[in-house]
Amino acid sequence: MKGYAMLKIGESGWIEKERPQCGPMDAICKPLAIAICTSDVHTLWEGAIGERHNMILGHECCAQVVEVGSMVKDFKPGDRVLVPAITPDWNSLEAQAGYSMHSGGMLAGWKFSNFKDGVFSEFFHVNDADGNLALLPSNISPVDACMLSDMVPTGFHGVELADVQFGDTVLVIGIGPVGLMSVAGANMRGASRIIAVGTRPNCVEAARGYGASDFISYKDGTIEDQVLALTDGKGVDKVVVAGGGCETFESAVKCLKPGGKIGNVNYLGSGTYVNIPRVEWGVGMGHKQINGGLMPGGRLRMEKLGSLVSAGKLDVHPLVSHVFEGWDHVEEALFLMRDKPKDLIKPVVKIED
Ligand code: NAD
Ligand code: ZN
Repeated sequence: MKGYAMLKIGESGWIEKERPQCGPMDAICKPLAIAICTSDVHTLWEGAIGERHNMILGHECCAQVVEVGSMVKDFKPGDRVLVPAITPDWNSLEAQAGYSMHSGGMLAGWKFSNFKDGVFSEFFHVNDADGNLALLPSNISPVDACMLSDMVPTGFHGVELADVQFGDTVLVIGIGPVGLMSVAGANMRGASRIIAVGTRPNCVEAARGYGASDFISYKDGTIEDQVLALTDGKGVDKVVVAGGGCETFESAVKCLKPGGKIGNVNYLGSGTYVNIPRVEWGVGMGHKQINGGLMPGGRLRMEKLGSLVSAGKLDVHPLVSHVFEGWDHVEEALFLMRDKPKDLIKPVVKIED
């Protein structure tokens, strides 16, 4: 089978591989549509998770099941499915402790294009099919369904990690597709005011549609100066970090009220340390929490988020800025994600209807 792979850090291309084997609890699927992620850029060009040789890229897709193992109960060949980017081992101790995304070790629930071949391939392997796949609701297109693999669960997880409550003022740093879903999630959770940090005009427009009330640009001065000016010097209740680098945490801590919480879902692709400003962290006693997490995957989460889209409570379509048709366009879509033209939010490649 053909797959689009990271050959080594900084180099990618098509390779030929054996079709993966299906274990008793597994499924083999073929993509109906795939999406490119900023994480693919971190992995391939920044070497953020280290060297990988001939590893097929990609962890966002909507797919059709082509084969299931003998113990799989709820899926059969021909089923159209939502596929989470994170596919935990549900019987692991980490999953039993409530951290399925770290099943088998830190971040090890993230298997596609990390510890095994990803989904930019004619066929791909899904561990624990009953625990990880979800049926695609009939009113969601495969293109939109790709947003459920990673963008919706990650953006929403940032909101969970920040513990957004009714009436909160929430700052969302970064309004790429993940941050846009954090805006949408904060809005659904009852935030009264959502301050979005971002500049790209189509992202600003999408963020407004998802419920952002105020906008600032990190290019117009420090985030903290602008946020404190907007909030009469009080700061915000919660911060979701979905963009920027290690330095963003300094701003986030400075923007928070005492007792506030930061939910980070940003993938820190470079740098060594995250600096926490001592004074604004209440000289260690400000009750300002910093939480960072990998999105939870698995079937239940996919079914629930899928039902939000299916019921018309969440429209993911504004995230999809570019749609290509056919495998031949994977490289173009990937390079577009790296180069980030101003009108880009999320590129999707449609393989089959
Ligand atoms: P993106 O690059 O499209 O969006 C990031 C946004 O942050 C951009 O709009 C950019 O303009 C903005 N930004 C850049 N520098 C900034 C700064 N200094 N201050 C404020 N904003 C700044 O990326 P995305 O696809 O939305 O993903 C966001 C992050 O989430 C990425 O790092 C991605 O790898 C990560 N991610 C994490 C998980 C997870 O499970 N935790 C899953 C998927 C993606
Ligand atoms: Zn992703």
